[in-house]
Amino acid sequence: MSGADNQALIARLAAIVGGSYVLTSDNDCAPHVQDWRGRYHGKAACVVRPGNTDEVSAVVRACYAAGVAMVPQGGNTGLVGGGVPGQGGQEVVVSLSRLNRIRSIDAHNNTLIAEAGCTLVAVQAAAAESQRLFPLSLASEGSCQIGGNLATNAGGVHVLRYGNMRELTLGLEVVLPDGQVWDGLRGLRKDNTGYDLKQLFIGAEGTLGIITAAVLKLFPQPLSRTVAWLSIPGPATAIELLAHLRNACGERLSAFELIAGSALELVLRHIPGARSPLTRCGDWALLVELSDSASNADLAGLLGSALASELEAGRVLDAVVSSSEAQVRELWALRENISEAQKREGISIKHDVSVPVGAVPAFIEQADMALRKFFPGLRIVCFGHAGDGNLHYNLSQPDAADNPAFIAQTREVNRIVYDIVMSLGGSISAEHGIGILKREELKHYKSFVEIELMQQIKRAMDPENLMNPGKLL
Ligand code: FAD
Ligand code: ZN
Repeated sequence: MSGADNQALIARLAAIVGGSYVLTSDNDCAPHVQDWRGRYHGKAACVVRPGNTDEVSAVVRACYAAGVAMVPQGGNTGLVGGGVPGQGGQEVVVSLSRLNRIRSIDAHNNTLIAEAGCTLVAVQAAAAESQRLFPLSLASEGSCQIGGNLATNAGGVHVLRYGNMRELTLGLEVVLPDGQVWDGLRGLRKDNTGYDLKQLFIGAEGTLGIITAAVLKLFPQPLSRTVAWLSIPGPATAIELLAHLRNACGERLSAFELIAGSALELVLRHIPGARSPLTRCGDWALLVELSDSASNADLAGLLGSALASELEAGRVLDAVVSSSEAQVRELWALRENISEAQKREGISIKHDVSVPVGAVPAFIEQADMALRKFFPGLRIVCFGHAGDGNLHYNLSQPDAADNPAFIAQTREVNRIVYDIVMSLGGSISAEHGIGILKREELKHYKSFVEIELMQQIKRAMDPENLMNPGKLL
């Protein structure tokens, strides 16, 4: 597209949304053209900030007519480069942040309708105001937006009990690549009328359309909550404990996070005010949460008695059970600050993988052994949602001077890790998606049939390839 065409499109977009909502200067665009980790830097023709679905539709129609590609963007907290424009400087970033209304709450149906630009925290707060819970919970929840959560099928720490974004969504409103609006805002728990179209857009990373609103499921608010930090001998014990706690606590078990000593160490080093939860922390820990909708549930008692036999048998080496909401938050902060602490420590090769829950110990054992053979002294920071079989498995050289040479071998390292994941029946991306980061790996590991089906869907829905091109596929 020529400079003049570019200017004409920008003028057209300004006429739709108002001039102050089209950003063109390098300074204004800067936060929108690079990712949270600072790994991906792109260029955009402009950033456009529509204020409602009609404006999104008109913006998309204008881009479609001009043959210009669009990059949907939410809170830009994604970790795989999916929300960042490419290098060409021709793409239009469509930021959804002004679509930030809660349209309605239906107490009988236990649902709310949120616009795509609502932050996750705002949706949680709206649910809480109606004495309900919206259970998605991520460390990025202050910034990430519902549209981004949907487009990445976000997971987080409460998937164990409530499921991921796919399972929390009943309906969607989407602007298609040519600007048509699909109104699928149905709040139905039963709807067997053919293909479940909303599931195509969830996890599509903005490659099939722009999500503008969603019907989300609500749950009873947990009025009691207890968290325990457990020092354990290793991952195999974690999986035994998971089964034991599920039997003993049932549905109340709402989080089950595995944390390697190396991850806690980084938090204690980099996060001001972080304190070690136990005097002797050991190599592995679990953060376990129980919650209940009754305000007087004796969760500490329940957890204490469930843990007594485990302490005796040596499956738990030491434990602290929270005695106040402040302590609950303090223990959670240790887990939630791992990403931030790693960011401060420096670059690492990151993996976000899943395997069937029972294979978690095998994955850790096999991957550790294979990697240490090639890279003795490697620092392995392993943590994550063990109850979902999902681990964040991040690798670096402890000596900063050795790290660049190690990072240069990312491909080889990935091959080792992902081959083991696949041999155990797992996935190379459990919750962060594919974006640019894992696009080539996806081709390597998915079958021809699966890739071909995905490409056919993309061609059918976005024949001009204007919706977030170059991402995912
Ligand atoms: P963006 O980063 O803006 O976009 C992500 C992708 O979605 C892009 O491909 C973009 O094009 C597309 N997109 C955005 N909005 C729309 C829309 N309205 N319509 C169509 N496509 C759209 N993720 C987890 O799953 N679990 C975690 O526990 C977790 N923890 C995190 C912790 C930290 C500290 C950080 C920084 C990130 C974490 N993430 C986690 C990753 C990230 O927060 C999630 O992927 C989140 O869902 C992205 O939302 P966002 O609004 O920031 O999306
Ligand atoms: Zn996670």
